[in-house]
Amino acid sequence: MRLVSRVSAFFKVALALSLLVNASILVTTVRYFLFEKFERQLHAALHTLVAAIEVEDDDAKWEPSDHTIALGAEEGLEDIRWVVLDEADQAIDRSRNLQWNDPADQSLISLMKSFSSTSHFPSTNGSWVLLNQQLAAPHPKPISERATSEHACLRVVVAGSTSEMYATQYQLAGIVAVISLLTWVLAGLSGNIFCRRALQPVREMAMRAAEIRSGDFYARLPVADHRDELAELASSFNGLLDRLQAAYEKQRRFAGDAAHQLKTPLTVLLGQIDVSLRRPRTVDEQVQTLSILRRQTLELQQIVESLLFLASAAGDRTLPSVDTKDLGLWIVGYIKNWSNHSRFGDLECNVYPGINFETSYPLLEQLLDNLLTNAFKYSLPDSPIFVSLSLVANRIEIVVEDRGIGIAESELSGIFDPFFRSVGARQSGAPGIGLGLAIVRNIAVALRAQITCESEVGRGSRFVLRFP
Ligand code: ADP
Repeated sequence: MRLVSRVSAFFKVALALSLLVNASILVTTVRYFLFEKFERQLHAALHTLVAAIEVEDDDAKWEPSDHTIALGAEEGLEDIRWVVLDEADQAIDRSRNLQWNDPADQSLISLMKSFSSTSHFPSTNGSWVLLNQQLAAPHPKPISERATSEHACLRVVVAGSTSEMYATQYQLAGIVAVISLLTWVLAGLSGNIFCRRALQPVREMAMRAAEIRSGDFYARLPVADHRDELAELASSFNGLLDRLQAAYEKQRRFAGDAAHQLKTPLTVLLGQIDVSLRRPRTVDEQVQTLSILRRQTLELQQIVESLLFLASAAGDRTLPSVDTKDLGLWIVGYIKNWSNHSRFGDLECNVYPGINFETSYPLLEQLLDNLLTNAFKYSLPDSPIFVSLSLVANRIEIVVEDRGIGIAESELSGIFDPFFRSVGARQSGAPGIGLGLAIVRNIAVALRAQITCESEVGRGSRFVLRFP
């Protein structure tokens, strides 16, 4: 089921329910008021009729003025039927709308006669609602002494038909039902159109997203001017495309740089081989050529290994051989490994024992190797290189600091990118391909640590590795 159909189906069901509730409330309210008016008229008619009975101590007389009685001018009163009955339930008077010779009226009159309730509450019989009241003389005369108009008691029964009231109700219910149905159909049709229009941006987004091919991160989804959820979704998706594009371009640059770095030693290798093949060589010349080729091959090997490490470290976040050791003692042992280096004497180690720390020590060793190699490479012999360990705000910090050529502030942000080399480094003639610090950063991420660098041209550099 399509989203448009689903949303409009929900809308139609909700609308149908609310129209149904509205119609029921309306019909019930009107029914209540109609019935209340009907009952009020019936009671008013009964009171008017009872007021025409004159009750004395020894008799009761039915004496409407001028022998006629008017119930009132209100609409509906003319339909009320009534009879006045004596103690023998003989009708002594009746409303003009009751015909003695009409069989329907005759059965209504006998119904009224048989209605003996003394209550003032209406009683329903078929489509008739009846009410009655009786007035009796306290000490009635014996029947032989009474005149024809004199009675021991008189009873008034009024009857109102509910059929007209119900007919009005059914008519109203029919009108309400038709109006509700028309409203539902019209609102349903316009709801379909509105839903389709409201969800149009989603269709456009889907179409635009389908157009994006792998590697083409330049297409963007349209973002609506009004800041609604769909606009937010489109901006988030565009943000994701921005990040993918940046990562993709970084990857492409990396592949290009890697190819470039591999190309230089390969060209040198090929040149050397071509030159040595031009004519027969003496054994000394062959040895010389082979040692040049070996040096170039070693350089190639180093580049390939670094690239492989970068590629695996980026994807593989599981740490190899994690150990808990005394970090200070471990650093002291690690520094001793450099004892054969020509600048070992420049190393100043400032660490203390007592910090037991769990990490991958082979990776930490590789990270420190790269930092120390750079410190040696980019500083003059006899200038000091400091390695220190400290706890700052409960965080372990390992610092490698030199007094070498330093890095310009404008270049600091790029030093951890693969293949980056500062102008100073290039001019210094120090060998390098710009992968050492990229590996340092990847190892730091794998160790869940943070690596930062502060540096000043001509004064030296300070690399800080912070563990959580
Ligand atoms: P490289 O092979 O060029 O040394 P790195 O990735 O190790 O590559 O370092 C990247 C760049 O950062 C270097 O080329 C250099 O410009 C700068 N750099 C790194 N360490 C230092 C340092 N200790 N002193 C000055 N510059 C440094």
